Amino acid sequence: MSTLQTTASEPTTESGLVEFGHIIDGREVQSASGDVFTSIDPYTREPWAVFPLGGSAEADLAVAAARRAFDEGPWPRMSATERRTLLHRFADLIELHGEELAMADTRDMGKPITQSLSNDVSRTALNFRFFADHAHGSSAEVLPMGTPHHAYTRFDPAGVVVAIAPWNFPMMLESWKVAPALAWGNTVVLKPAEDSPASATIMARLALEAGIPPGVFNVVHGYGADSVGEALTANADVDRITFTGESSTGKVIARAAASNLIPVSLELGGKGANVVFADADLDNAIAWSIKAIYTNAGQVCLAGSRIYVERPIYDEFLRRFVEAAESMRLGDPKDPATQIGPMASDVHYEKVRGYVETIPESGGEQITGGLDEGWFVRPTVIREPAADSPHQREEIFGPVVTVTPFDTEPEAVALVNDSPYGLNAMVFTEDLSKAHRVSAAVVVGTVWVNCFFVRDLRAPFGGAKQSGVGREGGNFSREFFTEPKAVIMQIERSNTH
Ligand code: NAD
Repeated sequence: MSTLQTTASEPTTESGLVEFGHIIDGREVQSASGDVFTSIDPYTREPWAVFPLGGSAEADLAVAAARRAFDEGPWPRMSATERRTLLHRFADLIELHGEELAMADTRDMGKPITQSLSNDVSRTALNFRFFADHAHGSSAEVLPMGTPHHAYTRFDPAGVVVAIAPWNFPMMLESWKVAPALAWGNTVVLKPAEDSPASATIMARLALEAGIPPGVFNVVHGYGADSVGEALTANADVDRITFTGESSTGKVIARAAASNLIPVSLELGGKGANVVFADADLDNAIAWSIKAIYTNAGQVCLAGSRIYVERPIYDEFLRRFVEAAESMRLGDPKDPATQIGPMASDVHYEKVRGYVETIPESGGEQITGGLDEGWFVRPTVIREPAADSPHQREEIFGPVVTVTPFDTEPEAVALVNDSPYGLNAMVFTEDLSKAHRVSAAVVVGTVWVNCFFVRDLRAPFGGAKQSGVGREGGNFSREFFTEPKAVIMQIERSNTH
């Protein structure tokens, strides 16, 4: 099959690199210092694009632009209907430029193009459409008090939002933050991950084309610690920080937010548990379990990386799971036939390599998989590692899964909960009562029963324990991205004072 090409109109340097800028106050600009960094295509392991390297100067400029746009500009003062119209126009443009956006993420971090196109572009557009409509439909709540008083809750925009994103679903996770922030009338400074910066600039260009005013959606590029990311979180003109990334980074961000006493939303790491009971529909359980760990080469916070299988079906599950894993096609992520691309960067490949090379020390057995050429890791299965091994407890963030038997329902629940993380779990069973009991007993933010990845954007999304603080989605996003205000009125004269 043919591979998609990037658009011909991209500005490129003499060396053929595609050029991107920060988007600050409606203009695409370079850093004052002139410093730049490149993004490496993890398949070719060559740079493909160049970005300005931001620092505290760019962080301050972007926050100042967002502050002005919030304090003086039209965006927070528009009606929810006007904002909804512009956000839908933005979503239209995202769909129209879907191939360009998808190719940007695929070249930045190696995600198979079919996933970038079919999943990430459509979810990105949907995020803007959903929150545009949700904010429009939920702008106030009336609280009937009875005469002589009348009360209502306003959901006023909170102000300037800093959004800091990881590299594994670049545009999709960025839009999960930017869309609700904009829909409720805030202005935004987005810092994409340094390994996947391109789609953020493209989105901000499209936002301007859609008519979203300058300064409302700003993008700055650069690193996190001691760089533009840290400068953004320290800026006292910021009203909210929404962060997705590693749990250890989340703690640093939370401290920065605490020093300015502003709310912070943290969507952090995971070690998803996947429980397959003996009465499960095995075809369905295997299909979802494969998808849960190998989509995006396992670089998914929700990845079902610990599978627990009830003993009577353990051997059959393992045999069929391994067969399916071995049939997956590794290759050029730009090729629509590819199912598994390379690890996103050399640094990340080294991390995953460390786990693969130490499987013998985990107490488990490697049934299939292992390292491949370049930054590729084949779908890897570890049978029964020790419960306290790093392979069972830590987030590997690669195509590496552990498979362990269990005997009873309480044991399965205890195994799921024996983790520092609490992002999500899956339960495969045909027994409805068991599905409800287990869903109630596991300490996680999301439980999927007989499926995976299915989302309703009104539902809370977030993690327990080390997997996060707070929830986003639907009204949960509204609580975070607004400053709810009670208005209590006396509508009849009364002698009570
Ligand atoms: P990371 O924490 O290394 O980086 C995330 C972002 O934070 C990047 O933009 C980075 O530049 C920035 N950053 C780093 N240090 C910073 C600092 N001191 N101040 C400000 N910004 C800073 O995470 P990553 O490697 O990009 O992403 C992978 C992690 O994200 C995994 O742990 C994964 O589970 C998690 N994740 C969670 C969810 C979720 O919804 N819970 C979704 C996707 C990814």
